[in-house]
Amino acid sequence: MDLTKVPSDVIIIGAGIFGLSTALAISKRHPHYQITVIDRLTPPVIDGTSVDTTRCIRADYPDPIYARLASEAQKKIEADPDLAPYYFKQGMTFACDGKPGKMFDFWQRGLDNVRKQHAADSIIEMNSAEEVFRRIHGVASNPVPDDQLERERKWIRGYTNLEDAFIDAEASVRVYYERCLARKNIVFVCGTPVRNIIKDPQSQTATGVMLEDRRQLKASLVLLAAGAWSNTLVNIEELAYSSAIEVAWIPLTPDECERWKNMSITTNLSTGFNLFPPYNSEMKCLRRSPGYCNTVTIPDPENPEGGHNIKVSVPRTVVTNPTDVIPQDAENALRDNLRELMPSIAGRKFDRTKLCWISQTPTADFIISPHPHTKNLHIATGGSAHAWKFLPIIGDLVLDSIEGKLDAELVRKWAWGRHGSDGGNAPRMSGNAQELRDVVRSQTGDVILGKI
Ligand SMILES: Cc1cc2nc3c(=O)[nH]c(=O)nc-3n(C[C@H](O)[C@H](O)[C@H](O)COP(=O)(O)OP(=O)(O)OC[C@H]3O[C@@H](n4cnc5c(N)ncnc54)[C@H](O)[C@@H]3O)c2cc1C
Repeated sequence: MDLTKVPSDVIIIGAGIFGLSTALAISKRHPHYQITVIDRLTPPVIDGTSVDTTRCIRADYPDPIYARLASEAQKKIEADPDLAPYYFKQGMTFACDGKPGKMFDFWQRGLDNVRKQHAADSIIEMNSAEEVFRRIHGVASNPVPDDQLERERKWIRGYTNLEDAFIDAEASVRVYYERCLARKNIVFVCGTPVRNIIKDPQSQTATGVMLEDRRQLKASLVLLAAGAWSNTLVNIEELAYSSAIEVAWIPLTPDECERWKNMSITTNLSTGFNLFPPYNSEMKCLRRSPGYCNTVTIPDPENPEGGHNIKVSVPRTVVTNPTDVIPQDAENALRDNLRELMPSIAGRKFDRTKLCWISQTPTADFIISPHPHTKNLHIATGGSAHAWKFLPIIGDLVLDSIEGKLDAELVRKWAWGRHGSDGGNAPRMSGNAQELRDVVRSQTGDVILGKI
């Protein structure tokens, strides 16, 4: 689509990293164009996938395409003076249990890959549980003895890539939101969700959106960038499934912050566990678990008045259910990892927890593509637990896709309906997501109630 020849407006549904980055890209490339960004809430959207205390920024992908794009994006983040105060290049340690299998293969390929990509002094290798533990706790420290651990060790081998970094995701999204606000041709409509995308039935062309309060907004192009909610607005469930993984924050004392301040992000591919260095006097941990889904029945989003219902998994978040805490098995798994890696804080009460929702594709490739049946409707979703780091470049790539200028290899990679496996680009533990309603817990004061 040639935007210079369409004298009208673009509506972007969703103000996460896909939506904000694309709004800026369109605004700069086509200053005459009017862009309306619509979101359920005002950015930084508290339960959006893009908003969190921290995200990893790294370019050590096994896939050369993501490696190249991530490297380009990381350089832009590093050169951005507004993001600099929120960016911390402390490296990332990738550990595993050393047992043969899919995750060990991913780990080994990752190590081979970073050895090729980076100078030797950027990589630290660890060949025992002691070395992995000492990377965090110092050379004089010793891991928990076997008889106290009472299970097999899982943090056995590791390597650190010192080129990797973490970033304050919420603060960075705010930077991008404020950049959008400063542009004359971008406006925000926040607080009322889009109910459905309006289509002209004859020409099968998107002509705008209807909001939940029945207001209608017209546009010559609609971009759907609604993350884990995208499946409530188009039939995408088979291609990008919405599920959530567990996150928890542990409060730290000033001494603990000082002790661990230089540690790297530390993750274990075998257990899915991920631990961030101290930030704002707390440590965040999460697990790339098979996760949780929340299946509901809704009217077919592409024909809401047609009387046909579909089943989709939709986010259940702190916004709609503020007293939710992570399920018991999620808490147990986080604490089990902490017992081996961070024994002194493993039993500490979490300050807060959340389930973070993801739009997950089978290949972990994003979906950046025209809608297959509806003209003037474009899709940018399927972030699959690794899209954040592309914030500075993803908008231009989405715009290239809209304008038919995207490189052929990216058109194929991000096409609607790709099948396959994640290839280690965003490895997640195998298994099926559990239905949240079977395991949900709620916190009332100090009491946690199961299955509410
Ligand atoms: C726990 C976790 C850890 C991760 N770690 C990393 C990492 O370390 N590095 C990395 O690169 N990536 C990481 N990711 C992935 C990354 O965060 C996501 O891929 C990315 O943020 C997705 O952005 P988005 O714009 O698609 O979604 P979102 O940020 O969720 O944006 C979608 C927006 O659409 C809005 N919306 C939804 N429905 C409607 C509607 N009907 N009307 C109006 N607005 C609507 C929502 O309110 C939301 O603001 C992680 C993800 C998770 C869950």
